Amino acid sequence: MALIDLHSHSTCSDGRLTPDELVARAADRGVQVLALTDHDSIGGLPAACTAGRAHQVAIVAGVEISVTWKNRTLHVTGLAFDPDDEVLLQGLSSLQHARSARAAGIAYRLEKLGLVDALARAEALAAGGQLARPHFARLLVEDGLCKDMNQAFKRYLGPGKPAHVSVEWAELSQAIGWIQQAGGLAVLAHPFGYGFSGAWQRRSVAAFAEAGGDGLEICTGTTDRSQEAIAQRLASEHDLLGSIGSDFHAPEQFWLELGRLRRPGAGLPAVWSDARFQSLTDDLPTVT
Ligand code: MN
Ligand code: MN
Ligand code: MN
Repeated sequence: MALIDLHSHSTCSDGRLTPDELVARAADRGVQVLALTDHDSIGGLPAACTAGRAHQVAIVAGVEISVTWKNRTLHVTGLAFDPDDEVLLQGLSSLQHARSARAAGIAYRLEKLGLVDALARAEALAAGGQLARPHFARLLVEDGLCKDMNQAFKRYLGPGKPAHVSVEWAELSQAIGWIQQAGGLAVLAHPFGYGFSGAWQRRSVAAFAEAGGDGLEICTGTTDRSQEAIAQRLASEHDLLGSIGSDFHAPEQFWLELGRLRRPGAGLPAVWSDARFQSLTDDLPTVT
């Protein structure tokens, strides 16, 4: 069975590896089908595809879209869409503007709290990719204001904290629409990654399915078997396809390593059973 990983990040968003390095690492770990799913950006796709050809990894066009739903943030991954689709590109560009505005707001607040040159230094860390909160978290750690990234979110960057800036991301139905009209599949990312209670988790999956979503991530880098069983039940209940993805960001986060994912259990159809995946993986051993 081909090793599949449908959720990963590069320097085009908040990942630490360039698309090229990411694909090389995936190949080293035996991954045969990889989706690059940068936050609100598909800028890394061309480089990932080139590297994919060199390393014999089938690259799935991917993106992780930020959504505001009932004052909460959800992440919807798009998979196997047409990367030249104008409507999708427009939508992503509107989110990139919102993201830059947020970064400027965070930097302003952090500078007032004593972090020197926050914006310029965060931009240097992002190295041309999009500015994201982990970049600011790294600065807070570097300057000794926090002992680790977690603390940076707890004390400064998280909701209700002094450097938090809220953003209106895409609407749920809008994000799903952008992906689907570009020919792709919309998947609700990491259902256990939002800090939701069971009730909110069920509500969010139901809202996603009702808005026309296609799939749900069952196994991610941080799920255990009991969580996967819950996700699988929710997916079956709402006729969603199962997806799997590590959410790889950086080699030092070893628990999110590429390609170490359990497949959904029997009885739940997977996103890669869709015809769109077969054409991507024609040269590979059958993906089943
Ligand atoms: Mn991220
Ligand atoms: Mn996410
Ligand atoms: Mn992610």
